[in-house]
Amino acid sequence: MNKLDLQNVPHRRFNPLTREWVLVSPQRTARPWQGKTEPLPLDQPPRYDAHCYLCPGNSRAGGARNPQYSSTFVFDNDYPALLPDSPDISLDQSGLIVSRTERGICRVVCFSPRHDLTLARMSSAKIRRVVDVWIEQCQSLAAIPWISYVQIFENRGATMGASNPHPHCQIWANANCPNQPEKEQSAMLDYLDRNHSCLLCDYLKLELADKERIICQNDAFIVLVPYWAVWPFETLLLSKRHFGAIDQISGQEADALADILRRLTIHFDNVFETPFPYSMGFHQRPSDQQPHPEWHLHAHYYPPLLRSAAVQKFMVGYEMLATPQRDITPEISAARLREVPETHYLERTSRSGT
Ligand SMILES: [Zn+2]
Ligand SMILES: [Zn+2]
Ligand SMILES: [Zn+2]
Repeated sequence: MNKLDLQNVPHRRFNPLTREWVLVSPQRTARPWQGKTEPLPLDQPPRYDAHCYLCPGNSRAGGARNPQYSSTFVFDNDYPALLPDSPDISLDQSGLIVSRTERGICRVVCFSPRHDLTLARMSSAKIRRVVDVWIEQCQSLAAIPWISYVQIFENRGATMGASNPHPHCQIWANANCPNQPEKEQSAMLDYLDRNHSCLLCDYLKLELADKERIICQNDAFIVLVPYWAVWPFETLLLSKRHFGAIDQISGQEADALADILRRLTIHFDNVFETPFPYSMGFHQRPSDQQPHPEWHLHAHYYPPLLRSAAVQKFMVGYEMLATPQRDITPEISAARLREVPETHYLERTSRSGT
């Protein structure tokens, strides 16, 4: 069966990073839709919100007060999921009831003092400051001897559980490598052992040759809808050079990362002309002082929207109990994302923002 035939029949696609399958059912896109309708977000948020605990000068729930910050601002989470000084306690009953204390540090990074400016509406120069903070944070957290992994992630939009609309991300660093990066690490390591090359470098070559799933790229980074995407507009951000962690990027690559983050989020927002919700996060080599030649820095974006700003995908039923499934093919999603303009829809109708 060739590639074109697969566009019309149910098939499974293999995710080489997780070594799991996704079911693709392109023939179903003709069926009538009766999905959940989400109310559309209200008008633009204000530049400053007196009730926002992330805005400059405001007090936070824990009692601390934010400084009058003028750029990117980092603080320790007031209600952290992990604590740096938990005592070492473990439990193991026949390998079936198993637990162990986990130490960690949780931080919050406000992208900008502006309550209303998402990455899609910040300048590349200002996003570069966010990238620099990620690099600084990864360096300082990775230098702590008991930290094994630093996870940068962003939940954007109430539908993804973001508790505050002020644009921000979180950085959690902990003693053990979490599930997803660990799963990918073993796949990348096996691939390297078998093929003597990097899984994502080899995958990147195939995508550059095919071009069908590429959304945008610059000299150092590329964004594409991966062949095995589960979420309708899932994307993978890949560095073109092989390196394992964000603190290994050069100054030019940091500029290029800022550029690609701005462009990708504009593509997202322009698809339905709405602030596009997503969960995103970088995956990088553990900070356990090992070389990790198998690791290739990348970021995953998992947006829930399906066919309009009001219709989102849920992972329930068969997907929860068996295998994730999608109707619209990754190739159609990629075309949809690629074809929108690279000027933000709000910049086309107004001159606000920076
Ligand atoms: Zn705010
Ligand atoms: Zn690589
Ligand atoms: Zn990954």
